[in-house]
Amino acid sequence: MTEETDHGRTPATQGSRIDAYVDRYAARATGMVASEIRALFAVASRPEVVSLAGGMPYVTALPLDVVGELVSDLVARRGPVALQYGSAQGDPHLREQICEVMRMEGIDASPDDVVATVGSQQALDLITRIFIDPGDVVLAEGPSYVGALGTFAAYQAKVVHIAMDDQGLIPESLAQTIYALRAAGSRIKFLYTIPTFHNPGGVTLNVARRQQVLDICQRAGILIVEDNPYGLLGFDGDPMRALRADNSDGVVYLGSFSKTLAPGFRVGWALAPHAIRDKLVLAMESAVLSHSTFTQLAVGQYLATQPWREQIKAFRELYRERRDAMLSSLEALMPPGVTWTRPGGGFFVWASLPEGLDSKAILPRAVAERVAFVPGTGFFSDGSGARHMRLSFCFPEPDRIREGVRRLAGVIEQEVQLRDTFGTGSILGHHGLDTPGPDLA
Ligand code: PMP
Repeated sequence: MTEETDHGRTPATQGSRIDAYVDRYAARATGMVASEIRALFAVASRPEVVSLAGGMPYVTALPLDVVGELVSDLVARRGPVALQYGSAQGDPHLREQICEVMRMEGIDASPDDVVATVGSQQALDLITRIFIDPGDVVLAEGPSYVGALGTFAAYQAKVVHIAMDDQGLIPESLAQTIYALRAAGSRIKFLYTIPTFHNPGGVTLNVARRQQVLDICQRAGILIVEDNPYGLLGFDGDPMRALRADNSDGVVYLGSFSKTLAPGFRVGWALAPHAIRDKLVLAMESAVLSHSTFTQLAVGQYLATQPWREQIKAFRELYRERRDAMLSSLEALMPPGVTWTRPGGGFFVWASLPEGLDSKAILPRAVAERVAFVPGTGFFSDGSGARHMRLSFCFPEPDRIREGVRRLAGVIEQEVQLRDTFGTGSILGHHGLDTPGPDLA
C-alpha cells in the first residue's frame, strides 16, 4: 500500500526505507507520523542557525556541580531505595513537596491525590488513555501544544479547537462549541487547556475568564485538564491562581519540574479527583510499573536542600531578558502587517504573518538564512495555522535572539515583496498535524 494518506504522507515508507509492517499496525498508529519538516530541523540544529524553534529550558543556568553532588550523595546514602522499584503513585515525600509547590498557585491539595509521572507528557498520555475512545472529542485552544495533539491523535481523539485571543481562550466560543457539538451528538470528554503562558500562544487566560471557563464546564459537566508547566515562570508579580485552585472536583491539574528545574529528570505529576487518581495509578502501573525512584528522589533532595524558589526567580529573570530581546527586536525590525503576542511569562511568542504568506513555505528559506521557527500548522489538528509561527526565546542568548529576528525579518520582507509581485508567496501545502520532535515541543 503506497497511496498518500490524508496527511499527505506516504505510510509505506519511512525516509527511504520500506516499512514491511505497514498493513499490520493498529489503527491508532496511523495517526503517529513524523513531521515533513523534521529533516529541515536537523539542519536547523547546526550551530550557525539561530533556532527560535526549540522549547528547551536553559538548564545551563542551573548550579550543575551542586546537582551532581546531590545525585552522588543520594546514591551513597540511599542507594538501595533510590535504585529499587517504587510505588506506581510516586514517592510519598515528593508528593508532599509537590503540594507545597502547587500552593504557590493557590492550590490546596492532599499528596494522596497526586500521581508522579514521567514528565507531564506522561500525565497527558495517561489521562487520554483512561478517557478517550476513538472518535471522542477533546476541546483544546487553537493553537494548542503540539505534544498534546500528538497524544490525542495517538488515541484517535477528535480535537475541536476553541478560538483564543490575547486574553486566552474565549469563553463564548467555548460555550457555543459545546452547544453545537452536543446538538450534533458528539461525545466531549474533556477540555484541554494551558491557561497560563500558553504554548505556543504566549498568552494568559485573564482572571474573569477563568471563572467563566470553570462555570461553563461545570454546567456542561465537562472535565477540565489544566496543563500548567510554565505557571511559576511569570515575569511580573505573583503567580496566577490556577483553575484547579477554584475547583477540585472538575479539574485535573498537570504540573512539571521540567521548566523550573530540568526536563532530564522527567518528573511531572497529575493532581486529580480521587476516582480519576485511582484510574491514573492503574494506568501508570500498566505503562511503566513505576516511575524512576532515582529521579524522583533526586528532585525531592533538590527541593529539600536547595533554594529552589530563588532558582525559579533566577530563571524568570533570565527568560524575561530574553523575552525583552525578542519583543524589542520584533518591534524594531518586522515589516508592517506582522503581529505577535506579548507573553507575560513562559517561553513563546506567537507571530502572525500578513495575508497571503505561509509560514511552512517560508521555513526552508529561513533555514537557508540561518534562522528557524516552528510553522503554525503544527499547533492545529485540522491543518489551519499557516499564517502563524511560534518563536521561542528560552534557549538562545539575547544577542542571538536579536540576530535571529533580524534574519527572519529580512526573509519575511522578501516574501512580502514576492507576494506583491507574483500574488501569493506560498508554494508548499500544509497537511494536518506536524510533530516536529521532542526538543521542539
Ligand atoms: N505541556 C506543555 C504545554 C509543554 O509545553 C510541555 C513541554 N514542552 C509539556 C506539557 C511536557 O513537558 P514535560 O513532559 O517535560 O513535563
